[in-house]
Formats: sequence, structure tokens, C-alpha cells
Amino acid sequence: MARVYNFSAGPSMLPEPVLKKAAEEMLDYQGTGESVMEMSHRSPEYQAIIEGAEAGLRTLMNIPANYKVLFLQGGASSQFAMVPLNLFGIEPRADFVHTGTWSKKAFGEAKRYGNARIVASSEDKNFSYIPKLDKSMFDQTAAYVHITTNNTIEGTRYREIPDTGNVALVADMSSNILSETFDVKKFGLIYAGAQKNIAPAGVTVVIVREDLIGKALPITPTMLNYKIHADEKSLYNTPPCYCIYIAKLVFDWLLENGGITQMQKGNEQKAAALYEFLDNSKMFKGTVVPEFRSLMNVPFTSPTEETDKEFVKKATAAGLINLKGHRSVGGMRASIYNAMPVDGVKKLVDFMKNFEAGKK
Ligand SMILES: *Cc1c(COP(=O)(O)O)cnc(C)c1O
Repeated sequence: MARVYNFSAGPSMLPEPVLKKAAEEMLDYQGTGESVMEMSHRSPEYQAIIEGAEAGLRTLMNIPANYKVLFLQGGASSQFAMVPLNLFGIEPRADFVHTGTWSKKAFGEAKRYGNARIVASSEDKNFSYIPKLDKSMFDQTAAYVHITTNNTIEGTRYREIPDTGNVALVADMSSNILSETFDVKKFGLIYAGAQKNIAPAGVTVVIVREDLIGKALPITPTMLNYKIHADEKSLYNTPPCYCIYIAKLVFDWLLENGGITQMQKGNEQKAAALYEFLDNSKMFKGTVVPEFRSLMNVPFTSPTEETDKEFVKKATAAGLINLKGHRSVGGMRASIYNAMPVDGVKKLVDFMKNFEAGKK
């Protein structure tokens, strides 16, 4: 069996021990004689799985007791609407920091339900940096401020979490949750689609401070109301059972491997190896201002589109797949989430070196 190194932005690689454990338990989950896929979400066995997933995430992220953890469906994209629907009942106003494709979508949805305003943007330089932020920029009477902690497409990340004063900070953390340490207390709400750093696509994690729950706009559909899901412990309806099970296995794997501190060290090493090569290459160039370079998504270019194409094709043949860049940035992008082994990045860097040398 030949496994490839998958540099996709999402869905992305899962840790091999997790896949193996899931395979072992596929037909007969811990003596139940059934697969987790077939199991009632009201069974005691499943109850233990979903509670275990929540406990694991709470430990990993050191989530305070006054925050709820929700396992929802609809992807991060549904949160673009769910956040304003639920928080605009406090005050129908929100401030957005515009740092790329995803923040634009979040802003676009919020505008439909209230007064959304862009207070800072990096659009002037093709989203290659994170704007400088200061508390005085934010409307202190707004319901929330929205940021995207890692910009998956553009390859930037926040180095500091902004101080928003008394206004709740809402973060789309889809592509860097669990990749570095965050102080959850600084946020009112964190959301993340699973398919980058948590699990297969299909579950979305929401971590929300209790005082922000129960203020939804009257038009909010039941299924989009945080209060319903918080009261029902993410079991109001059938949850994405199998995805939550895999998420639990991923959380267990992280806990067994030193938690987020250890993961962050590895991620810094992987990213440094790639950026160092890019900084010294005459052929390949990174596209982001060094200070704001993402640890998870590394976009880069070669001198011509033909070279890009040739590179991606040859890399694919060498078992380094999904390196084509996003259509809005072009070039290439290597997504190196938690589950990407150090060896995968080493292989990529070696491959790039050889490719460049062959062009001389
Ligand atoms: C992938 C991604 C999304 C979209 O996630 P879906 O689960 O596909 O809706 C939103 N925001 C960020 C930062 C992402 O990386």
C-alpha cells in the first residue's frame, strides 16, 4: 500500500494511527457488534463518544467552564450566517477585519441580517499581510468583531489576537484550530469546519461563551440557533456521528502526543523548513509578508505558469499531491496541517530543490 503526501487545503490528511484505529473498529466497535456509522446516536456507547470528544477538545484547548462546545453541521460557511443570526439579537452591528476570501464571505452573510462594517483590510496588497489593529478601531457598542485567524487561501495568520475591549471577538479558526496555542478566554466565539485539522468534512466545531447564547434574532431557524444545540448537547437532531467519532480519535491522538504545545513545535519546524527553502530559492517565491506567514498554508509561485503546471504534474507523479494553488492566488500551495508528517515536508523540499536544479 502506497500512501501519498496530500498537501490539499481540505479535506486534508488525517493522522495514520487514527485511520488505523478507525479501520480496526469499523465492523465491531468495542464489542458492540456494529460500526459507529450504524449506531444510534442515543445509545450509551455513542453518548460516551460525543462526551469524550468534547472532553478531549476542552483539555486540549483549555476551554473554560463558561463556554459551550457544539458539534454542528453545515461547515464553517453556515457559521457565516449563524453568527449574525445569533448575535445580532444583542445589537445588530458587527465589525469585520477583511483578510481574504473567507472573511469576505463571512462579511457578506452578516450584511444580510444587520449592519456589518469593514474596519480594516489587507486587500490593497492582495491580502499578503494582516492589518495592524487597535482597540480604538472597533465600535464598542457592536455585538462582535470578526476575524479569520488563518487565511487558508492567502496563507496569512494573525501573530497576535487583537484586543477588542468589551466587544466579543468571533474567530473563524477553520484552518488553524489546534495548530498553535490560543487563549480561548480572549474570544467570545470560535468556529471551525473539521476538514482541515480535526476530522473528515461534515462536522463544525463551535466554542461559544455562555452569555452570547440565547439572544438569537426571531427569524433564526431552530436548527441554526445556538441555544437549541447548547441545551440539547449537540443532540437536538442526528449529529454527524461518524465525523464526531473521528474527531474524538484525533483529539486522543493529539493528547497522546504532547497536546497542542508539541503540535505547535512540529508545525513551526515544518513551516520553517519550507519557508527557508523558499527564501533561498531562485525559482520559487513565497507570496506573504514574512511576519504573517501561515504555519498551515504555504502559497508560492514559480516564474511562469508553464513551470507551475510542470511542477505540479511531476510532484503528483512523485506522490506529493494537491499542490496546485487556489485559482484566486495562482501558483502553488502546500497545506501542512497537524497530520502532515515532518517527512512529507522534507520530501517536498527535496523535490523542489531537485526540480530547481534540473532547470539550470
Ligand atoms: C475551509 C474554510 C472555510 C469553509 O469551510 P466549509 O466547511 O467548507 O464551509 C471557511 N473559513 C476558512 C478559514 C476555511 O479555511
